[in-house]
Amino acid sequence: MTMIATCIYCGDDDPAKFSGREHVIPQAFGTFGAKTPTLKCVCDPCNTALGRELDQMLARDTLEGVARYAQGRLSKEMRPQRRLRFTLADQTEAGEMLGAAIAGLDPTTNQLLPLATQLQIENRQTGKTDIFTRAQLGRFTLSDEVYGPPGARKLAIFAPSKDEHDAFLEELNQAGFDMRMAGPSRFDINPSVDETGQTTIGVHIEGTFDQLHRRALAKIFVNFAAFYLGEEVNAARWASLKRFIRYGEGELGARLSNGPFWTGQETETMRFPDAINVRLENHARGIVGVIQFYNRYTYELLLLDGERLNREIAARFEDGEEPTLGIRRAVLAP
Ligand SMILES: [Zn+2]
Repeated sequence: MTMIATCIYCGDDDPAKFSGREHVIPQAFGTFGAKTPTLKCVCDPCNTALGRELDQMLARDTLEGVARYAQGRLSKEMRPQRRLRFTLADQTEAGEMLGAAIAGLDPTTNQLLPLATQLQIENRQTGKTDIFTRAQLGRFTLSDEVYGPPGARKLAIFAPSKDEHDAFLEELNQAGFDMRMAGPSRFDINPSVDETGQTTIGVHIEGTFDQLHRRALAKIFVNFAAFYLGEEVNAARWASLKRFIRYGEGELGARLSNGPFWTGQETETMRFPDAINVRLENHARGIVGVIQFYNRYTYELLLLDGERLNREIAARFEDGEEPTLGIRRAVLAP
């Protein structure tokens, strides 16, 4: 007997389109021994398209994506993060450079990239500071409406040396930006040195939990449901969630928290810092997917509004280890 595969995302069942396997947890985050969960029920075109749009973004351009480098999951390609902003966060180390932006993290080494020569200027419309690097020169404009007229702009130039600073200022003026600088030039960083001689520097990383990010996480939940709950995921009630994943159609309720994932098994000091934790559960509002990478933020997504699962499921994935399935323990009355 031959199994006929039907794609859980697009419904295609052409046998010629099922040569690959979809990883439930994107492969960039690890493999899990002989029990790495993979799916035969995702067609090659969906596997490729969603992998490119969602998995790659999640693995390269989110907090959890860069956190995997510290887990030893380094990348072979040098590709700076575009969706994250890294800024110097420690007053003692950064001094006058506090708030200066670092280009990002080198995915091949997990080391910070050098400080980019940059202009920081207050955006009057958003109230935030916009950052333009020297490399972007020629690709940005500074309108009076957004940044105020020359002389009244709140701006600073950060550079790794005085020469770089002066050269960038000159280039900005030649480009017609009329930079009237008041205040000191800034080009000193004093990293902390730990007991092993390793220099460290406090960095603030800022990312946005936007629709693209939600789609990437939602796909993990649908994959997870397909693997552990089987046919359930082909029920009609999953259709709109799949459209959200494939096309970004509609909205998905979501929230972020800092709470422990494995209530009862974890304490303030005992967590599972090397694991990716996933669960599907019934909430008052519907079926909720919960995911946490490396003991950082816990993301909760309302996947199916007003629906319930027959069976809740949770699993812990640690690179190189077989997955551990969680069991929901009955709460005993005192
Ligand atoms: Zn498909």
